[in-house]
Parts: sequence; structure tokens; C-alpha cells
Amino acid sequence: MSDLETLPLARWSGVEHRPLVIGGPCSAESEAQVLESAARLKGVRVDYFRAGIWKARTRPANFEGIGDAALPWLRHAGLQYGMRTATEVATPAHVEAALKHGIDLLWIGARTTVNPFSVQEIADALRGVNVPVLVKNPTSPDMGLWVGAIERIYRAGVRALGVIHRGFSVAGVRRYRNAPMWELAIELRRLHPSLPIITDPSHITGRRDHVMEIAQRAMDLGLDGLMIEAHPNPDQAWSDAAQQVTPERLGEILALLKIRRETSPDAEYLASLEVLRDRIDHLDHDILELLSRRMRVVEEIGEYKRANNVATLQVSRWSALLADRLAQAEHLGLTQEYARAIYEIIHRESVRRQSEVMSEEPAAASPRSSPND
Ligand code: PEP
Ligand code: MN
Repeated sequence: MSDLETLPLARWSGVEHRPLVIGGPCSAESEAQVLESAARLKGVRVDYFRAGIWKARTRPANFEGIGDAALPWLRHAGLQYGMRTATEVATPAHVEAALKHGIDLLWIGARTTVNPFSVQEIADALRGVNVPVLVKNPTSPDMGLWVGAIERIYRAGVRALGVIHRGFSVAGVRRYRNAPMWELAIELRRLHPSLPIITDPSHITGRRDHVMEIAQRAMDLGLDGLMIEAHPNPDQAWSDAAQQVTPERLGEILALLKIRRETSPDAEYLASLEVLRDRIDHLDHDILELLSRRMRVVEEIGEYKRANNVATLQVSRWSALLADRLAQAEHLGLTQEYARAIYEIIHRESVRRQSEVMSEEPAAASPRSSPND
């Protein structure tokens, strides 16, 4: 689908400043807790007051939300403290109940975005309804699922549409509960530049002490908004206790954020940036030229191995090459992780190319006398 003709964020939210802020507890737990959250958020610039009513929990023993009974609490808290309200919907019945209670913004949770059947049912329930909808990224780093869910909601006629970037489940030891994988948010911006992106540092980090750094990173990338969980007594929260901050801390985080401009009108800034970008362009052209020359040598080695009936892969050579390049990278001020990632791609493509060469018919009947390197 070519670019979506969605409404600009400011049009449907009335919020002209960056970031748009969605704040409030992970879950509505009691009427008192919802009201206290809202009361203490009143002084904080929160544009939409959130609370989870139906909680898609990974395990059945976890708190699964109060359900419909909590909708009036959310509504009253919003009216009493002058904030619009937002909640997660996962079924057509949730959509219907949330709209009946005047909830102002709906989002689709990460565990729902992974399922096109569920997303389609929600999309059908949203047809002809005028409510902003935000689509959280799926739990797995699958761009197709995310874009597919956005398209389903868009095709149902929703134009006040945006996304929430809440990180991705990936295997292995990691700093955050969900890997931010900013490159996916950036790719979505490239594919659909008009779609507002709200980052959710609470679900990315899983830890309140890391929320600020992710919020700042989102602002540095020029993303549009933040969804941050705030609870009157975070340690006692019935869900996601470790990641929730107090309403007062949310206020501090927002006050501490450095908001970057998209650009500067300053002529000197623009001229210097142009010069620096020109240098990057030249360096990138050199990198590609070198990669192409390297690949020609790889092909030549492939032909030589084929002529001498030798396998493409010599693991000892690959280990020695990688160790050498990692050491050089470190010496040049590049991280080993970065160099390893680059060399793994280079090597994989080299092996693939040599395997192709191996399967081609030899150009000449006799083996070549020597390779050129
Ligand atoms: C939430 O926002 O409370 C939530 C459950 O988030 P996610 O869908 O990102 O896990
Ligand atoms: Mn939560």
C-alpha cells in the first residue's frame, strides 16, 4: 500500500507540541487507584490518561484486568481532572464497551497485533467509528505483521491513526525487557512518513530507572510521542510493577527531556551540515566500490578452488580473518560487535557467491595456474 492518507497527529489530538504524552497506570485496579493516579497526574502535562481495563497477560495466573466495570472509573477520572482517556482493546466487544463509555483513544496491544484474525475483527468493529487508534508493534520483530495490522485498521476507514513502538521480544541476555530495535521504527517512518510514532519506554525497558534514557532517545530520533506508565504506588501495582513510575516522576522525566528540533533555519548550520553529508556520501560510495572489488576477488578465489576441487569454506581461515578484523576494528575505535555484524554479512555473501561459482560450468578445460591474490 502506498503512503497512507492519515490525519496529522495535531489534527486529531489537538496537540501541537512534542511529545504527545499518554500516561497512567498499567492497569485500572480500583476506583480509588484510578482517581488518585489522575489527581496526581493533573499537574503533569499528560494529553491522554491511560489505564488497562482488559489485560492480555502472558500467564493465566497474572492479573487479567477489572474488565468493563472499570470503564466508568476511567471516564470519570478523565472528566474530573481534564484529561482525555485511552485504553487497550483486543476484541470487538472491548471496542464496543470502550466507545459506549466515551473512551477517547484506543490502542491495539502487542499480543493482538501478532494475530491478523483478531486485528481484522477489531478493524470491522471500528468501521464507521470516529476514534483515534494506535497500533502497538507485534511482540516479534516482524515488520510485515505491524504494517499489515496498520493497513487493516486503515482499510476500515480509520484516519486518526498512529503506532506505538514498545520494543520486541528477542532471545539472549539484554539490557531491556523488550529490545527497542529502533531500526524498525525508523523503517516504518520511511515507509509511512505521515504515521505518528509514540514510543513506550515503560514496556521497552521493563525497569523504571531506564525509562528516561529511552524517552530521550525517542526524542533524539524525532519521534512524536511517549506512552509512560505511572502509578500512585508503583511497587504495589498489580501488573508491571517494576517499570511504573510515580506521577511526580513522570513530571520530572518530561521536564528533563531535551526536545530536538526537526531542523534549524540557521544558514550556517545548514551549510555545514551539507558539507558533512557530502563527506558521508563520498565515503559510502568508496565503501561500496571496495565491497564490489572485494567480491570480484572472492569470485576469483571461488574459480580457483573449483578448478582444484577444494571446498568453499575453510573454517580456520574464517576464524583467523575475523579475529584479525575485530582487532583492527578495535584499534580504529569501532566496537567488536559492530565489526562482527558487518563481517558476518560480508562472509555470508562471499560464501553464497563462491557456492554459485562452484556450481557454474568452468570457463576453461584446464585449471588456472594461480589466483591473483
Ligand atoms: C500495556 O500497554 O499495558 C501493554 C500490555 O502493553 P503491550 O501490549 O505493549 O505489552
Ligand atoms: Mn503494562
